[in-house]
Amino acid sequence: MYLPKEDLRDTAQVCLNGHLVSPASTKNPIYNKRYCEQCSASTVTSCQNCAALVKGPYPAIDGKEPDGTETIPGFYFGASVSRRTGTVNHMRGPSTTVTKYKDVPSYEVFEDYQRPNFCGECGQPYPWTTASVEAAQELVAEDENLSEVDKASLDKDLPALVSDTPQTPAATERVRKVLEKAGNATADGLRVCIKSQYFGNKAS
Ligand SMILES: [Zn+2]
Ligand SMILES: [Zn+2]
Repeated sequence: MYLPKEDLRDTAQVCLNGHLVSPASTKNPIYNKRYCEQCSASTVTSCQNCAALVKGPYPAIDGKEPDGTETIPGFYFGASVSRRTGTVNHMRGPSTTVTKYKDVPSYEVFEDYQRPNFCGECGQPYPWTTASVEAAQELVAEDENLSEVDKASLDKDLPALVSDTPQTPAATERVRKVLEKAGNATADGLRVCIKSQYFGNKAS
């Protein structure tokens, strides 16, 4: 991915269950909704803990536009020192003025979006992150094929699946092994709840 010097991402509108409702809620507000059309949950544009805005996807770059000018000093070709005052006089060719350009973002076309799991300002999980772990833990608690030891192990490992830490691949592997003993409904349900790259599915 190519990253411009300024962060061109706009504020996303996401529902409490994590559906991306509007990728650029201020720059292109026509898709904003009070409720999610997929699940009817309320939508938010900021962290409910610290009010920092939720970052949307990276916009595509639509071209360049002039952004002021820059003066480039001429070639340096020597210096003379005044015998009388000792002042150094640098000798340069004529300077040139060039136009600077900046990227023009298109807020209709976006790069792939992986919705954030945690707030980048306060580090708290977003509501959809907490909801997906809780839903997964509920599924596990109700599975009759799993022993109490298996359930406790899943309970402990599931939160690691929504974060991307060095422990995540090992936790995912343990979850996978325990899930082989679980009912199909639990395993399938868990894949829906936990959107993890290690689980073979991406956030949508
Ligand atoms: Zn939704
Ligand atoms: Zn926050």
